[in-house]
Amino acid sequence: MIPYGRQSISEGDIQAVVEVLRSDYLTQGLVVPQFEQSVADYVGASYAVAVNSGTAALHIACLALGLGKGDWLWTSPITFVASANCALYCGAQVDFVDIDPQTYNLSADALERKLIEAKVKGTLPKIVVAVHFAGQSCDMRRIYELSQQYGFKIIEDASHAIGGKYLGQPIGGCQYSDITVFSFHPVKIITTAEGGLAATNQVVLADTMQLLRSHGITRNPDVMTKNDGAWYYEQIDLGFNYRMTELQAALGVSQMQRLDDFVVIRHQLQQRYDQLLRGLPVITPYQDKDSYSALHLYPIQLELDKITKSHARVFDELRQNGLGVNLHYIPVHLQPYYQDSGFKPGDFPNAEAYYRHVISIPMFQGLSFDMQDQVVNIIKKVLV
Ligand SMILES: *Cc1c(COP(=O)(O)O)cnc(C)c1O
Repeated sequence: MIPYGRQSISEGDIQAVVEVLRSDYLTQGLVVPQFEQSVADYVGASYAVAVNSGTAALHIACLALGLGKGDWLWTSPITFVASANCALYCGAQVDFVDIDPQTYNLSADALERKLIEAKVKGTLPKIVVAVHFAGQSCDMRRIYELSQQYGFKIIEDASHAIGGKYLGQPIGGCQYSDITVFSFHPVKIITTAEGGLAATNQVVLADTMQLLRSHGITRNPDVMTKNDGAWYYEQIDLGFNYRMTELQAALGVSQMQRLDDFVVIRHQLQQRYDQLLRGLPVITPYQDKDSYSALHLYPIQLELDKITKSHARVFDELRQNGLGVNLHYIPVHLQPYYQDSGFKPGDFPNAEAYYRHVISIPMFQGLSFDMQDQVVNIIKKVLV
């Protein structure tokens, strides 16, 4: 089976992890700060807080921005459930903004229309989570302008997008947002097995997120109410154990050195797919000129009016022929958990239409051109 995504682990990556295993610290040592520095330098952010998942990063990002009961968080329905769940963890409510049918990202036009309505109703969001779907940046300039006009905070969910650029700048520099969140799950661009990170330029947000990832405990004498002695620490907030281990960070430091190569390979694969799939009844992913996508995914939409098989049948046959295809994503508002809170089919028509046509085909740095040719031949066989 050729998977849709897979990690690439080198001898160097393995050695980096083994070194940590032989060292004194498996957690809370010096490698996590080193990884944070490496990501901060790469993306051009002042601060980086590493945690044990992208989901944890979203959670503490929301808390640091003050999200709580009575607040709204808006995001795209075409994302992993974690982009929305983070609001519910904070006791806030979730709403969605339909996607742009061309980029599959949250539509800035739809966002503006919804903001106008919400202003009248008094339900403006506190946070908008802009998900850079498949690694391609949202229209951040417009979303940022709207945030200034309507007074909301922005989290970029860049789980798909490390190594990508927007208007020539690395994604994660937070030029148009408060916090950018990354995931390092093995299917993502680089991996730490499980892992995530929140980047920001605001020291207050960085300090709060650091506190929250480790129980809300501080050893900083400047913020403690007293100091009983050298053993002393204080819990000054309710945090979590969201820490990344030294093993994970060592893998991360090593993977960061390979990041640019990974993205170059993904672009070669994208260009080959665009050519090889030409003439087939599929829509290949649009590449916006403002964006240099990290190309986490290569989702194709089936032109079902030109195919005699259903979406599900094509999906099944691709799997039967050895392609580990997947689907990104089932619209979050259609998940039973979200339908229980009132969302229903028809709420976000562009997202739902996209869902009925899309399939993610293999895209990862270890996919050779030969394997890619094989993938295309299977798609041809199944579609025609
Ligand atoms: C993977 C992913 C997450 C969650 O990341 P984890 O590290 O798996 O917790 C959040 N948002 C998006 C868009 C993702 O793809």
